[in-house]
Amino acid sequence: MDKPKMLWLGIDCLDYNAVKKFNTNLPNLWALMQKSTWGRLESKKPLYTASCWSSIFTSTQPETHGVTWAKWKEGEVGFDSIKVITMFDVLNRNGYTCGLFNMPATFPIRDINKWIVAGFPAVGEKEEIAKPVDILNDLPSDFISYTPGHMLTNREMTEDFDLWVKSETKMRNAFIGLPYKYKSVDLIAYGSTVVDRCTHLKGVNHKTFALKFYRAADTSIGQIIEAIKPDYTFITSDHGADGVCHSLNGFILLNGARFKENNEIDTKQINFAPTVLELLGLNIPSTMEGQIIWEAFKSPAIDKEKIKQQLKALGYI
Ligand SMILES: [Zn+2]
Repeated sequence: MDKPKMLWLGIDCLDYNAVKKFNTNLPNLWALMQKSTWGRLESKKPLYTASCWSSIFTSTQPETHGVTWAKWKEGEVGFDSIKVITMFDVLNRNGYTCGLFNMPATFPIRDINKWIVAGFPAVGEKEEIAKPVDILNDLPSDFISYTPGHMLTNREMTEDFDLWVKSETKMRNAFIGLPYKYKSVDLIAYGSTVVDRCTHLKGVNHKTFALKFYRAADTSIGQIIEAIKPDYTFITSDHGADGVCHSLNGFILLNGARFKENNEIDTKQINFAPTVLELLGLNIPSTMEGQIIWEAFKSPAIDKEKIKQQLKALGYI
């Protein structure tokens, strides 16, 4: 099988209930949902961004991957100190390349084949936020000042509503403008922080206010899919939002030839990585604690069972 082109949109704090409430006001996401499997992605406490994303990356609970405390904002625990194998490690070992752009909780950086521009809370020297560092030369000169890590360490920027929407536009355009050599990886990921800001500034219940932020993320979804033209698109958030706080109700979407259309599911964040590995026919490491989301696949367990029966009949197993 040729390697499929996979796009992963990591929308921090995208809330399952808010997506359902806003529905057609998010035209790109809503249209995509009709052609996809999507639903609630249950998160796990502690509802720290880095803790939750690390659970998604590793398919393990926080006590296993080790990113369990708030010190991740200072980079004391984070992407480079995850204690177990990540889905990126599995992909790399099996010859799949990955490129991660502004994905939350990918700081401090760890080795990824092929490149990484770290997301929130990334701040600091160029060498600390990108590898290979040359990739920063292919991004706009004011890129660093619009990164979530930079904006969240500057109080005036943190509280400027419009600036967050502008930041999303800047980040999206920087990503779309990357040269082909970076876009040609097997799994390319784009991270967005704008929806999380809406939660912490006023909360998702202020509809007009929240919609500005949700629509900024929705525009990114539409424009990035159009630019990348992936075979498979995944969307995940790390947690949802309840008023101005994080909630357990994250969001997941799986789109592509092998996934069912217009299919709502309810699943857990540790189930994402095994599902991506199953899609590619890769073995799932024994450290991974989640389950394959079989209900997302058009013809899942039935085919496997059939093959098993045939092998049995032939005396191979
Ligand atoms: Zn978060």
